[in-house]
Amino acid sequence: MPVTLPNASLQQGTWFKLICGASFHHLPSVRELAFLYTLAGVDCIDLAADPAIVRAAQQGIQWAQAEDPQVGSPWLMVSVNDGEDVHFRKAVLTDPVCPVDCPQPCVAVCPPHALVPLATSGTVHLQTELCYGCGRCEPVCPYHRIATPNHQVPLPQVLPSLVGLGIQAVEIHTRIGRQAQFGQLWGSLRPWLPHLEALSISFNDGPGLEAYLRDLLSLMDPRPKVLIWQVDGRPMSGDIGSGSGTSKATLKLAHKVLNMGLPGYVQLAGGTNAQTVLLLDPRWPVAGLAFGSYARQLVASYLEGGLAAGIPLAKELVAQVKQRPVTVVPGLQQTSFSYV
Ligand code: SF4
Ligand code: SF4
Repeated sequence: MPVTLPNASLQQGTWFKLICGASFHHLPSVRELAFLYTLAGVDCIDLAADPAIVRAAQQGIQWAQAEDPQVGSPWLMVSVNDGEDVHFRKAVLTDPVCPVDCPQPCVAVCPPHALVPLATSGTVHLQTELCYGCGRCEPVCPYHRIATPNHQVPLPQVLPSLVGLGIQAVEIHTRIGRQAQFGQLWGSLRPWLPHLEALSISFNDGPGLEAYLRDLLSLMDPRPKVLIWQVDGRPMSGDIGSGSGTSKATLKLAHKVLNMGLPGYVQLAGGTNAQTVLLLDPRWPVAGLAFGSYARQLVASYLEGGLAAGIPLAKELVAQVKQRPVTVVPGLQQTSFSYV
């Protein structure tokens, strides 16, 4: 497959972003995910805003380029938040001991196997660096001993070292009504814009969305070189089931945002899986797709042993986007689209 530069992929509608997770801090997994998906030809890898994580991803990219000198260099994007957000939380156990008669439903629902039963008791151990904050364990615990508190990325403190490491992009996770918080975050980010290739804004649907996004546009002065609107339909749900259900929210939100005619690229996320490309109308000027939990789950059993077997799976997923039919140039907004 010929190498396409990230910018060109956005223009062609074939941008593929791997989301490692804004709260995912497991260095070996990040390194190996970066290796697999760089070999597969991704345009961008989205990471926690942590220098150690960025270095791990860079090492994975170097491994991939040593394996195949033809592969490109994906952009590295770090995720930050302007307030409470499901992507910026971690599970904590509020009691060190679990009742011995608990059937441990938390273990069964945890996608990255961050909750591990201890052999000698009914208690579970939480591998915090593996937890990416999906929140599924909290409601199933019959003894209410799991909490998932939020954390705020200290952008002014971490950004200088992240830019020094060579990241190319930042993603701001925001929510309707946070103009003031976004503006404050933007103030910290603005001096670093000349060093960044792209800025992504990630958001969910809700009343007043268009007015909110237009307010954000007026706050973004000067505008970033490349602006991406990440429509986060149903966050962290792409690994739930294999059908079209989780894709529908992101397709619906993309349809809504495309009709707003905002400057910048529109990219799908939140519930994306192998069905999403099949459901995406090639006439929509969508710049690309981001895959998180689905992409990670696809190769999870090959991480930390047997990595080579994960390469064809990663390549197949990326090829779905790279080879998708595109009939409208992304960024050229139309006035209305039919939703299929
Ligand atoms: S279920 Fe989700 S929130 Fe709970 S420990 Fe696992 S990854 Fe973390
Ligand atoms: S469900 Fe709750 S009580 Fe049961 S093992 Fe998990 S954390 Fe412990």
